[in-house]
Amino acid sequence: MNYPDSLNNLIKSLRKLPTIGEKSAERLAFAILNLDEEEVEEFSKSIIDVKTKIRKCKKCGNITEKEVCDICSDSSRDDFIICVVEDATNIITLEKTGIYNGKYHVLNGLISPLDGKGPEDIDINQLIDRVKSEKIKEVIIAISPTLEGETTALYISKLLEGSDIVVSKIAHGIPIGADMEYLDPMTLSMALSNRNKIS
Ligand code: ZN
Repeated sequence: MNYPDSLNNLIKSLRKLPTIGEKSAERLAFAILNLDEEEVEEFSKSIIDVKTKIRKCKKCGNITEKEVCDICSDSSRDDFIICVVEDATNIITLEKTGIYNGKYHVLNGLISPLDGKGPEDIDINQLIDRVKSEKIKEVIIAISPTLEGETTALYISKLLEGSDIVVSKIAHGIPIGADMEYLDPMTLSMALSNRNKIS
C-alpha cells in the first residue's frame, strides 16, 4: 500500500542514516508517528540543534558548542602530548578508556591516494603548526592500521623527523578474548612485530 506523503518523506529521510534499510525506516517512522506531539517537537529540535550549535574546536578540531573544546581548555591535562585521531568520534572512544590525559588533534580524514585525497585535504598542516607553536614533546598516532591509516601515519612521522619530538603509534594486534585460530595473518603479523617483553 501507499503511505501518505508525509510518512513517505519521513521514511526517505530516515533511510539516509547508516544501517537503516527500508524495513527499519518504516518501523522508526511509525514509532515517531506514535510519539506525543511534545516529544516529536523535542526530537526535531535536537536534530536542528546538533546541526546549528556544534562546530569544530578551533584548536584541535574536536566537536564542541564553544570556540575551544572542553579538552583543550582543561588545565589539568598534559599540554605537551598530542594524540592524533581520524575523526572526533575516536576521541570519545579514547576518553572512555580513561588512561590518556593529554590533548588531541583531529585530522578529519586520512590520506587516500586512490580517492584523490592528499595531505592538504586533511588537517595535517594544522597539526604541524600546533606541534611547533605549542612546543609539543610527544605525538601519539592513534589511527586505524588500514592502508590509508598507515600512509597517513608515515607521512606525519616523516614531517616530524629530525625534531626532538617523540612520535609513537598505538599498537595493533590481537583483540582481547580472540581465538588465535581465527586471526587473519595481517593482524597476527602486526601483533608479532608489536610484541612486548614480559620477563
Ligand atoms: Zn579542542
